[in-house]
Amino acid sequence: MTLGSAPLRLAPTRDDVLVMKFGGTSVGDAERIERVARHVMAAKMKGFKVCVTVSAMSGETNKLVGLTETLGGGDVSRDADYDAVVASGEQVTAGLLALHLKSKGVPARSFQGWQLGLETDESHGAAKITNIPEDKLLASLDAGEVAVVAGFQGIAPNNRISTLGRGGSDTTAVALAAALGAVRCDIYTDVDGVYTTDPRIVSTATRRKALSYEEMLEMASVGAKVLQTRSVGLGMAYGVPIRVLSSLGEPEDTDEGTLITAEEDIMEQEVVTAVIPSTGEAKISLLGVPDKPGRSALIFQLLADAGVNIDMIVQSPARAGSEANMSFTLSERDLSLAMEKLTLAKAELGYDDLVANQNVAKVSVIGIGMKTHTGVAAKTFEVLADRQINIENISTSEIKISVLIAAEYTELAVRALHEAFGLSTAKA
Ligand code: ASP
Ligand code: MG
Repeated sequence: MTLGSAPLRLAPTRDDVLVMKFGGTSVGDAERIERVARHVMAAKMKGFKVCVTVSAMSGETNKLVGLTETLGGGDVSRDADYDAVVASGEQVTAGLLALHLKSKGVPARSFQGWQLGLETDESHGAAKITNIPEDKLLASLDAGEVAVVAGFQGIAPNNRISTLGRGGSDTTAVALAAALGAVRCDIYTDVDGVYTTDPRIVSTATRRKALSYEEMLEMASVGAKVLQTRSVGLGMAYGVPIRVLSSLGEPEDTDEGTLITAEEDIMEQEVVTAVIPSTGEAKISLLGVPDKPGRSALIFQLLADAGVNIDMIVQSPARAGSEANMSFTLSERDLSLAMEKLTLAKAELGYDDLVANQNVAKVSVIGIGMKTHTGVAAKTFEVLADRQINIENISTSEIKISVLIAAEYTELAVRALHEAFGLSTAKA
């Protein structure tokens, strides 16, 4: 299968093929790998042909990245030899799981990316999958084996091992499910599904039974780190249902988790499905920018060239007709770089003042129902106003409203919105 921009799944659906992915904590030690094998055997018992993808043991990739930095003299994550190193963690867990399955009498074999011909482009450290020939995998499954694929890795046109960026095993798993036409891609992780908000902030957070791809993409983009975002985009493009569930219990105690699927396949649609806090945000304001055509282009081109991602832009007139104030948000990580670039270009950009603020947080209200229901924005603002929380910036998409507020009010805002939109009592 070629993974281009095709909108629909190319492989015919095979109802008997299941892809199961196990993350780093799920394969963190020998005992946990034994439990993974029990999950795989349970799926086999249900009649599935099982293709498994594994991550490296938790902490392993970080350790390997650290070694590449020590011995490579800094960040070498674009070097093909970085990939040669960091791809090794998944080779270990794939082999170990295959060995253990065989010790239990279950036919199995491991595959590395290159052995399948899992092709990527040449952007080492952050490669994109370009093609997955499914023949070898199907042959293995048809021979009754569990095919255990090392996640996160592939082979680039330069004949070097490549990796897909941190968290990339999720993307491997969904891509394999698309290539095989699997009935579903089950992603086993250390949480038991996707919640209406962060359960550490709101104790009444509930697990969603189902979410649309679009909702999950919005949740990921504002900081809910359950799946690598690319994997959700891939699932959406190829129509692969993705299920997130826990690997920390025995198969018989594991409940069904959260299904991420097409909007039309979701039975109970609610207007708002999640309230997601996102910290690690910062805000930059430029005061007294000359109000002339081309000024915004200049400012944002400068930041784009520096690789800084921008969100939530607000511009308002300062002195009518001649000057404007502009503010935007960005990741805290990029703040000093952005401030440096803007300071250096002060004369060229012609602003009076530059102000940075790190004490901000973004809270996003997300729900597919916003496409058809009005009043979500009004209600969001009202709930915040009732708590005397000032809104600094606002941005929206078809299914999301994000507000920027002072960081100290994050928890209060999230709790209040979660309650106001009825999520605390939502059916899990
Ligand atoms: N082991 C890789 C990482 O830690 C890939 C993954 O776990 O998905 O980023
Ligand atoms: Mg992960």
